[in-house]
Amino acid sequence: MNRRLPVYLLIDCSESMIGGGIEAVRAGMSSMLSKLRTDPHALDTVHLSVITFDAEARVLVPMTPLLEFQEPVLLVRPGTALGAALNLLADRIQAEVRKTSHHAKSDYRPLVLLLTDGQPSDDWRAPIARIGAQVQPRPANIYAIGCGVDVDYSVLQSVTDVVLRMEDMGADSFGKLFVWLTASVSSASQGVGETVGGKIKLGKLPSNVEVFEGVAPSLEEGPQRQIFLRARCETKKFPYLMRYRFDAMFGCYQPVKAHRLSEEEVKAAGAAKPDDIRSELLNGAPACPWCERPGASSCGACGTVFCSTSDDRSTTICPGCSNMLNRGPEGDAGAGFSVRQSGG
Ligand SMILES: [Zn+2]
Ligand SMILES: [Zn+2]
Repeated sequence: MNRRLPVYLLIDCSESMIGGGIEAVRAGMSSMLSKLRTDPHALDTVHLSVITFDAEARVLVPMTPLLEFQEPVLLVRPGTALGAALNLLADRIQAEVRKTSHHAKSDYRPLVLLLTDGQPSDDWRAPIARIGAQVQPRPANIYAIGCGVDVDYSVLQSVTDVVLRMEDMGADSFGKLFVWLTASVSSASQGVGETVGGKIKLGKLPSNVEVFEGVAPSLEEGPQRQIFLRARCETKKFPYLMRYRFDAMFGCYQPVKAHRLSEEEVKAAGAAKPDDIRSELLNGAPACPWCERPGASSCGACGTVFCSTSDDRSTTICPGCSNMLNRGPEGDAGAGFSVRQSGG
């Protein structure tokens, strides 16, 4: 049996990846697979595993030879449990990666590719310490790639020395990133990974990705950079997700965009534990992605947030509980909606 090169893809599937992000990761993974499958070294050695994280971490694909690998379905859910993902990574490495013994060749030290675009929602320090001190074999390298503008780089710097930054989360940008990651895996599969100190030399980065230099400020003390609220279109009843970004100058959250959700994604999110968010911290609402109405209200009976305009007719049917609601300051449907965020 050949020496295997275990490659772990740790993919952030939190709500902030909705929109272009998750699609681009899917496409990137797909092209990575087809490219690696044309590479004889990679075919001989690379074994891939996919671990995703949202409010919890999941092994979507256990360590699998390249040829047998089936692309998993990536679903966006609330939460960014990086700590849980690192713990699961540690478990899997210990269970799956062969250590040297008298009668079997050991595997190459694993390569970990971590993609995240936000701030962790759980404790990540203990799992990092565990990977550093207890996990055998230690990963040869962890590439931590921060995507977008709301990444806590101080966390990534604690995870690894190889912290990369990619601010543009467009499809082209992810495409270039995956070409580069593919080349890195490919050269690691030729044994380049076993260099002095176990460090793999970084190949030339694409123009949209840079090495993160300097000391990143921790974002842990500050307000969450992005928040997400689930809502339903009042007319079409379809679900959507509202994205807000913190505006430091005004000390409130500004609406960025609303993204359509599928019922499958609503089901996948399940009963996430929402934190209360004071509606006065929200400066309006992004337009409904189903009917383009510019505002939002919430149902006093069931709490469902739904799209609305201020000059809507005076009664409405809640898309969550089907109750008839009266609008206006004394009504059951408040325009200054009191809502729960889905956290992550
Ligand atoms: Zn609507
Ligand atoms: Zn309701």
